[in-house]
Parts: sequence; C-alpha cells; structure tokens
Amino acid sequence: MGRPTAGPNSDWGDRFLFLGNHLALDFLNTCLVQKGEAVELLPDFDALLRWFRAADLLTSGEAASLRQKWGASARAQHVVEAIRELRERLRKAVFAVEGGGTVHRAVINELNNLMADHPMLIRLNASGGTFTTELWFAPGQPEDLFAPLAHSAARFIADVDRNRVRKCRQCVLHFYDISKKGTRQWCSMQLCGNRLKVAAYAARQRARARQQ
Ligand SMILES: [Zn+2]
Repeated sequence: MGRPTAGPNSDWGDRFLFLGNHLALDFLNTCLVQKGEAVELLPDFDALLRWFRAADLLTSGEAASLRQKWGASARAQHVVEAIRELRERLRKAVFAVEGGGTVHRAVINELNNLMADHPMLIRLNASGGTFTTELWFAPGQPEDLFAPLAHSAARFIADVDRNRVRKCRQCVLHFYDISKKGTRQWCSMQLCGNRLKVAAYAARQRARARQQ
C-alpha cells in the first residue's frame, strides 16, 4: 500500500479508496493494511459521513446536518459500529463469491431486513423531454445510512459476474474487474501494480546478473 495522496488521477478520494468499481467493494475497502497493520478508515461517525460524501451518497448539506444533529451521540457511534460489523460479514460473503462458494442465508436475511427497514427510494427526473430515474434515500437519522450500503450489497450479490470479482494479489483490497480483457490482478497500478512490476524487474536483473 502506498501513502494516501490526493489528486484528480488518484485512487484516493478524501483519503478513501474508490477503485472497487462497485460501491459494495469500495465499502469493504474502508479497512486496509498499511505496513502490516490494519487501518480502520471508519473509526467514528465523522469519518463515516466523510466516506458517504466521498462516495457521493450524501450532499455536503445532508452530511453537515447529520453531523450537527447526531455527531457526538452514542446512537451515531453505535451505528458506526453496526456498519463496521456488517462490513466484515459482507467481506466473508465477498470471499465466498470470489471462491465460487455460496452466500450464507443469514447474510441474505440480514440484507433483506435492512432494506425493509431502510429502503432506497426511486425518483423520476424530467429534463428537456427525456426522463431518467434515480435512487435516493432521505438521511434523517444515523440508521438511514444503512440504506445505500444494504442496497449495493444486495445488487452486488445478485448482479456481478463472479469471475470478475477479485482480491488484489498483493494486498487486502477487493475489486470488480471491468477491464476489456478481464485480466486485472491488482487493486491499482499506483498502489500495488507498480510495486510488483518493480520487484519483477529487479528479479529479472538479478537472474541476468547470475547468468553472466
Ligand atoms: Zn493491492
């Protein structure tokens, strides 16, 4: 893992990673390992709101309103902990998907219960004679943040091509391979790909030196 750096071409958005090509995987990737140590990117409600902002799931006004109303509350912190626990159960489900296994019935039931309690809503937009629909949710209380997480996890389990869901060869991050050839192996060139290439190059140089 490299150090978090900001920039328009960076995989880091507000020090979060968005390289999974699926919200459900970007959510998993909020816990990483740097220099051999687990790094929790969602330690508190403020961090969770910043991730929702970075993922474009909340407007800045909605995030500010939630922060102001619930920021220091035990209820918000409880939701953060529940969301992290959900993330780790989903991680097991994603490993199962990657390994060709099946997703546990308990996870399916949990997602269905969450989606019943915190549904995503649909909105019809009209613009210049064309119509589009979009999903939305009304974030009034901390528990509402479950809505897009449960929805994206359900869509992930139902919709993705399982052969294209992978863990990086080099680190703990997961991604959905949408490349044309379907041969993506690393979370990102910037974080792990280059490092592997450099290591392979050095190994070739050493092998060549031994042959001479
Ligand atoms: Zn990686």
